[in-house]
Amino acid sequence: MNVIPAPVPHCPVCDGAEQTFAMTARGHDLYRCNGCATLYVHGLPSNADLAAMYDDSYDGATTGYFAKVDKKMRRARGRIRALRKLAPAGGRFLDVGCNGGFVVEAARETGLDAWGLEVDGVSVAYAREHYPANEYFLGLVEDFHSVQGFDLIYTSEVIEHVADVRAFMAAIVRLLNPGGALYVTTPDISHWRRPRDLDKWDGFNPPVHCVYFNPASMRLLLESLGLEIVRKLPAFKPGMKFIARKPR
Ligand SMILES: [Zn+2]
Repeated sequence: MNVIPAPVPHCPVCDGAEQTFAMTARGHDLYRCNGCATLYVHGLPSNADLAAMYDDSYDGATTGYFAKVDKKMRRARGRIRALRKLAPAGGRFLDVGCNGGFVVEAARETGLDAWGLEVDGVSVAYAREHYPANEYFLGLVEDFHSVQGFDLIYTSEVIEHVADVRAFMAAIVRLLNPGGALYVTTPDISHWRRPRDLDKWDGFNPPVHCVYFNPASMRLLLESLGLEIVRKLPAFKPGMKFIARKPR
């Protein structure tokens, strides 16, 4: 695996070069950006290497992972119900990090033209087998060029896995229609319910989770790439949920 030669850590969100060493955890050095307070793992593998690492080896993608399918579909339908009004009837939907295709299928059930994108081959194979009416792409969002013009892009608990968050989010912005909406969720390291001891927090998982946002740094990322924040939804668990729009 090739590690990005990055002798000087810099912030993946704001590109700031001033940071404070925070800790070494599970063999990896973490820094906190002095500008936007994002905590990040330094010396990460490239996105392509991460994709290769995930392909067919994602820690959950076993038969056991897909055991509670009914529950996953119920949850997926609930999420789509809450977001459905963000896209026009028959609009185009993309789940970036679609896993076994549950949310993609739920979107299709409401009449959306539903696409799923996933770096894990086992998950995509599951989705293709069980929810074959949808379109899937195995790979990174940066490499997805099959179609554009999405009205609603959903990416839940994915961006914390991504080393180059700016390239990831820029690719999403490129895929959105003018006026299209983005729903993004990720763990919130500044959340009031986050365990004080990071090791006791299930959101803390370096180097798999390599970027730890706070709501201000997520706003900064989204707005710096031209998106407008529509709403930050309340989150009882230590995570954040944002809805943003690409201007018309
Ligand atoms: Zn920063």
